[in-house]
Amino acid sequence: MTQWQIIAEHVTQTTGMPFYPLEPRHIGGGCINTGVRLTDGERVYFVKLNGAALLDMFEAESDGLKEMADASVIRVPSPLCCGLSNGQSYLVMEFIEMGHAGRSGGESAGRQLAAMHRAAQPLFGWRRDNTIGSTHQPNQQRDNWIDFWREQRLGFQLQLAARNGYRGGLQRQGERLLERFHVLIDHQPQPSLLHGDLWGGNLAYDREGNPVIFDPAVYYGDREADLAMTELFGGFGNHFYDAYRESRPLSPGYSTRKNLYNLYHILNHLNLFGGGYLGQATSMIDRLLAEV
Ligand code: ADP
Repeated sequence: MTQWQIIAEHVTQTTGMPFYPLEPRHIGGGCINTGVRLTDGERVYFVKLNGAALLDMFEAESDGLKEMADASVIRVPSPLCCGLSNGQSYLVMEFIEMGHAGRSGGESAGRQLAAMHRAAQPLFGWRRDNTIGSTHQPNQQRDNWIDFWREQRLGFQLQLAARNGYRGGLQRQGERLLERFHVLIDHQPQPSLLHGDLWGGNLAYDREGNPVIFDPAVYYGDREADLAMTELFGGFGNHFYDAYRESRPLSPGYSTRKNLYNLYHILNHLNLFGGGYLGQATSMIDRLLAEV
């Protein structure tokens, strides 16, 4: 059987309705995976493809989409099935025709994200690990946010950076930050359901102008970590932030914590994309150290 016959058969089994797709259409735009639009002329699916070793990544993504969909506040593509076919892993989900934000899109996104952040669990972390970009993201559950962030976010990425050859100053300054950064997190957040990788490329709007979020790195943590990431590569606009803060105001000190939270993503970029991010990571650490 061809790759697409195997995937179509899996869709047929999962939905209980025979699915005979037309020629698949490749869609550009993804950072990590190949995206494909698969339709039989009526039903339409978005299929992600990658190497066979990354099936685990797709299973975690599928679980993350379900977790966010269960909160029932912001539109998320429903995952259908994932598996292996002819040496590649695949994830099939609902295809959402994207449109534009319209006048109230940013405001809806801010309000709905605040509502999703009300979904909570008792512990920080998640019931399973997942990936951020294509980097492993550990989510071992902890009752203390500071410990969680130290060990499983900054500490983990710093160790990875050392293995990738970024030793010296980055590690020395990083160690100093790990020892002292509890001073920077001086509030007690709730473990909120987070998207986990909420940059502008992972938010869009459907044809009715409803916000859609996808490609998550779900875990339960300080909701400010999601907000911080929205600001990392350009920001989501005033309507978004005003609506979020109106629904759920932020605690004092957010502007400092924001840098601490975004350091995780910059370290991840260093580990994924290389030394171009070294200067940014080091100067972020230096600025944070200047505040403790
Ligand atoms: P990657 O994991 O490779 O980063 P993304 O999940 O970010 O891929 O998807 C890449 C692009 O495909 C997105 O920017 C978006 O435009 C489009 N896309 C993602 N999910 C869907 C979907 N369910 N339906 C339609 N288009 C989608």
